[in-house]
Amino acid sequence: MNELVKAFETRKKEAKKAKYLKVKQNYKHAVDVPKGLYEKCPKCKETVNMTHMKKTLFTCKHCNEHFRMRAVDRIRLTVDSGSFVEKGLGFITLNPLFNEGYDEKIKSYQERTKLDEAYIYGYGEILGNPCVIGVMDSYFLMGSMGSVVGEKVTKSFEYAIYKQLPIIIFTASGGARMQEGIFSLMQMAKTSAAVKQHSNQGLLYISVLTHPTTGGVTASFATLGDIILAEPGALIGFAGPRVIEQTINETLPEGFQRSEFLLEKGFIDQIVDRKEMKQTLSQLLHYHKKVMG
Ligand SMILES: [Zn+2]
Repeated sequence: MNELVKAFETRKKEAKKAKYLKVKQNYKHAVDVPKGLYEKCPKCKETVNMTHMKKTLFTCKHCNEHFRMRAVDRIRLTVDSGSFVEKGLGFITLNPLFNEGYDEKIKSYQERTKLDEAYIYGYGEILGNPCVIGVMDSYFLMGSMGSVVGEKVTKSFEYAIYKQLPIIIFTASGGARMQEGIFSLMQMAKTSAAVKQHSNQGLLYISVLTHPTTGGVTASFATLGDIILAEPGALIGFAGPRVIEQTINETLPEGFQRSEFLLEKGFIDQIVDRKEMKQTLSQLLHYHKKVMG
């Protein structure tokens, strides 16, 4: 245990040094795509200019494929300009099971993504409607849920209760974080309890499932929303299709675990195109305010 305390102290000093504890409201670092970078769309195989991604809301202009997005870009495209105030800063990721290479991995992701963990949240307004907004970043260790992500998700619900506000969470995750073992699995129960507490206050929780939302995140807060929305073509599931096929020894139907399939089965409420997301969320918040008002 002493080793853990020591590791915490060192990391705290480092974090201070790196100004991770500073309140960050300026997200200029979010889109640092080199000019003239082209990539092939995985769906239609057409060439897409990555420099213009912000204009097309990170979708393919040929086939409307929705690409993965960084959390900061999502926030910028969803909330009204200048309204976002980030909360829950200063959490430090530890290595409770002394997993080899985990510390280095975290550090390298922090440098690469300029985030301290795979989830950010705060206060924001969507077309004038106040809410708490939380976004998972799949570029940070596949948006996996470790102790810090679980704690921050819980905190975001607690903050929404404190402010008596609705909460919107955009999920994108590979599931529980393997490197943190049981500590990671515990977050499923903790976040689910936080959802329930928020719900007990009669407050609205909108969950937006984006590509990909899998594992422990699907099995906890992601699918506990009062209203569950999803982006088109998003992979949503618990275990991956290959694992299921091997287990049940059967071929799965086409489009299995995609949002369209899940809508048909009643698992989600609506598929919302990214271009209509802000409008849809603002409408839902507005209607809810009226009902509660
Ligand atoms: Zn395309």
